[in-house]
Amino acid sequence: MTDCLFCKMVNGDIKPDTVYEDDDVLAFRDINPQAPVHVLVVPKTHIATLNDLDPAHAPLIGKLYLAAQKIANDEGVAERGYRTLINCNAEAGQSVFHIHLHLLAGRAMGWPPG
Ligand code: AMP
Ligand code: ZN
Repeated sequence: MTDCLFCKMVNGDIKPDTVYEDDDVLAFRDINPQAPVHVLVVPKTHIATLNDLDPAHAPLIGKLYLAAQKIANDEGVAERGYRTLINCNAEAGQSVFHIHLHLLAGRAMGWPPG
């Protein structure tokens, strides 16, 4: 999508602080980090929200989590712990409408989340 921020990162128009990339997934540091490690893992395919997933996307969603697992290892936080989450729509606080998995780590996380 031409007016999508994360599609612009995927197609190279905007250069994020990339930490991982493969054929299906791009991962980069959040510009406004909420923890010492805050990485966004995005599919290279534009999917606006979790509500837009269909069964054909199941392998792609699995790849987001496998990328998060690898990044957590690379960042040295896998054993301490980390949180992954996807916000969907307004009440969850979604602000970029290209699905993305947040990987947060490096501090103790509160529960329930705000
Ligand atoms: P969400 O609120 O779940 O849609 O998350 C969107 C995230 O994208 C927020 O945590 C923002 O800080 C982050 N973000 C927005 N613009 C950029 C950017 N140019 N580079 C990296 N992260 C960004
Ligand atoms: Zn997009």
